[in-house]
Amino acid sequence: MRTPQAVACINVLSLQHNLKQVRQFAPDAKILAVIKANGYGHGMETVANALLDADAFAVGTMQEALQLRSITKDKAIVVLQGIFDASDIQQCVAYNLQPVIHSEYQLELIETAKLDTPIRCWLKVDTGMHRLGIQPDQLTSMLGRIQQAANVDRPVTIMSHMACADDPAHVENQLQIETFDDLEVDEKLPRSLANSAAIIAFSGTHYDWVRPGIMLYGISPVQDRTASELGLQPAMTLKSRLIAIHQLMQGDCIGYGATWQCPEDMSIGVIGMGYGDGYPRHAPSGTPVLINGKRVPVVGRVSMDLITVDLRELPGAAVGDEVILWGEGLPIEEIADEAETIAYELVCRLTSRVEYQLVS
Ligand SMILES: *Cc1c(COP(=O)(O)O)cnc(C)c1O
Repeated sequence: MRTPQAVACINVLSLQHNLKQVRQFAPDAKILAVIKANGYGHGMETVANALLDADAFAVGTMQEALQLRSITKDKAIVVLQGIFDASDIQQCVAYNLQPVIHSEYQLELIETAKLDTPIRCWLKVDTGMHRLGIQPDQLTSMLGRIQQAANVDRPVTIMSHMACADDPAHVENQLQIETFDDLEVDEKLPRSLANSAAIIAFSGTHYDWVRPGIMLYGISPVQDRTASELGLQPAMTLKSRLIAIHQLMQGDCIGYGATWQCPEDMSIGVIGMGYGDGYPRHAPSGTPVLINGKRVPVVGRVSMDLITVDLRELPGAAVGDEVILWGEGLPIEEIADEAETIAYELVCRLTSRVEYQLVS
């Protein structure tokens, strides 16, 4: 059997634990578990099967929704980008999908479609992020049209999305929360505002449905607290192995561009993982990896298939030793900081070369 080098171990129990943490933070809200982008890179099927206790699932696109429907027959599925043309509406009926209406053209498509069964919809209002959503002053007229539309199964859920909840002190948060609170909406209509960061930082935003994504995967959504401080467990541990060890001389240079030079005679380890697997190429020298429970620094540039590390602090390291790139014992948030990106991007961009293994 082929022995894989890059492996993403997905811990099903951690996913389930994190869902329970969401319930602790938002005990009175229903949970729309966001599993877009292949379950934030953890594998849509794995995540969907692990999180069957969620009240509904959300994905980004119609394509993802159809994939998810082949995995779960009866769970409600919300399509965050909604429909784009008449055939999408027919798919929503055929596969029982709930589109978000974020633009007037989408309501027009639904109004003029010929449907046997009405579809359940979510209506997205722009409260200040200025990405998707109708404007607050369009809401009354849109709701009036929805009230008349035979093709819409009521009630519609009113939703919006926050731009800065990861930075709780940001002034934009209160502005968006007030705008959402002030919307002229029948009190009986269900509402949804909070992503992971808002679930944690703003308990007043929970309303009827919360929409956690990143925290389900055990990654902290807020800048000022770590995942472990929030009681979250990393669901993905990315691993590889040492595939070579070299004794080099003072002054020897490592890797492309010869950007790192040995300050003394020393040993260098080579790991079978690189940006071709999804490890960030911009992780600089000094970024930690975990070998036999000890952190050692990356030295030199990350290349497509390989990473080099300084083994001076780990004289017992041997070819074949397991290396953890992030996950258990090495928070992905730290690696993201080193590479000047966010953990969301790191988990989403693992490539097809990485083999997935489930642990539970
Ligand atoms: C992706 C997404 C979420 C989840 O956001 P997290 O920060 O991952 O919790 C919630 N709502 C909408 C509309 C989204 O697009």
